[in-house]
Amino acid sequence: MASAAANSWDVFVVGGGPAGLATAIAARRHGLKVVVADGAVPPIDKPCGEGLMPDGVVALHNLGITIPEGIAYPFRGIRFLDNGASAEAVFPRGTAYGIRRTHLHRALWDHAAACGIRMLSQAAVTGLHPEGALLAGELVRARWVVGADGTGSRVRHWAALDQCEFDTPLDTGSHPNHEKSLRFAFRRHYRIAPWTRFMELHWGLHSQVYVTPVSHHEVCVALISSTPKSRLRIEDGLAEFPELWTRLEGAEHASSERGAITITRRLRRVYRGHTVLVGDASGGVDAITGEGLCLAFRQAALLGDCLASRDLARYQWGHRRLSRRPALMARMMLFMGRHSQLRARTMRVFQSSPRSFAGMLAMHVGEGSARDYISNGIALGWELLKA
Ligand SMILES: Cc1cc2nc3c(=O)[nH]c(=O)nc-3n(C[C@H](O)[C@H](O)[C@H](O)COP(=O)(O)OP(=O)(O)OC[C@H]3O[C@@H](n4cnc5c(N)ncnc54)[C@H](O)[C@@H]3O)c2cc1C
Repeated sequence: MASAAANSWDVFVVGGGPAGLATAIAARRHGLKVVVADGAVPPIDKPCGEGLMPDGVVALHNLGITIPEGIAYPFRGIRFLDNGASAEAVFPRGTAYGIRRTHLHRALWDHAAACGIRMLSQAAVTGLHPEGALLAGELVRARWVVGADGTGSRVRHWAALDQCEFDTPLDTGSHPNHEKSLRFAFRRHYRIAPWTRFMELHWGLHSQVYVTPVSHHEVCVALISSTPKSRLRIEDGLAEFPELWTRLEGAEHASSERGAITITRRLRRVYRGHTVLVGDASGGVDAITGEGLCLAFRQAALLGDCLASRDLARYQWGHRRLSRRPALMARMMLFMGRHSQLRARTMRVFQSSPRSFAGMLAMHVGEGSARDYISNGIALGWELLKA
């Protein structure tokens, strides 16, 4: 730590989660001198659905990172299950992976270290400074400070970047506010052979459950519910999903249950002066999309480029553009989550017209043109009217 303070850096990344590590790697690829500090010890775990969609795999690949063989489990598409009904679609292109968060973190951390980035663990950042940031009270000089410190970002607060642009009423209810877009999640791994090559999303009245195969003998279960009142723990929540419960009942727990919050939030700005935000610290989309990692990797690539060209206004603009599609998908999925009758209709359409679900999935992972999106949307709307 002492030598980090003795040096002067181009970029000081606060937070060594996926967004921070990817940004450090992107900046280093532009030849910048980078230090990353995280308060925790790697490999860092975090409650997550642990699904890396094909667009996320491509985003990682564009940063020069390939998922090492054997640490991830490939899956082919997404299956929705709701009240006895089931519909599935295969990704139009590429491979998705279920990957234990700790494995993903280890791969990113090792890659960053091998790139010549200075890595500091158990190193909590305690404040900002006009010339850099404070590490355990000591000044580390850096031209840029990147806040990659997650949903509850303190860097965001220190840099006075907390102000949000609230999402539309479709997303947040009739009185859009911060609290309403906040949701609660729990995650646990079960030692059981995956029964499918799909990532499953089980829709319930009060919650949604993701099941992701992460190895030949393990699945990750993440349960997300909407309000503090229904802040469900996994085992209570699974009572709503008898079919899934029958599969998991008796399976050995392969990890302890961990909780997190997930929030759809768009910030007015993502940089001020020499401080800039990335990943969940810079806003975010609800976990239901399974797109948080991909978004973080794309933001990281853009930020690395903008730091090298010293143009954070371009990052601000590009950040907004990158968030648009995942934010739209989050809104649509949350809307489905809240309206069980509409969901039942949609499931009927997806079952009778698998192409409409495949079209939605393609849009979800960023495949196809704006024209495809519009024609898919119109076709789905029409089918819904007929259903
Ligand atoms: C329940 C749930 C399910 C999800 N499922 C999926 C999914 O299936 N697929 C997907 O793509 N996304 C998913 N996501 C979203 C995804 O997990 C996040 O988007 C992603 O973790 C964001 O990474 P990050 O690096 O921005 O933040 P984090 O992963 O939270 O990392 C922040 C890091 O900053 C460090 N830190 C914080 N404060 C300080 C400080 N002061 N000093 C130093 N270090 C600090 C922390 O220790 C941490 O390591 C899910 C999220 C949730 C909650």
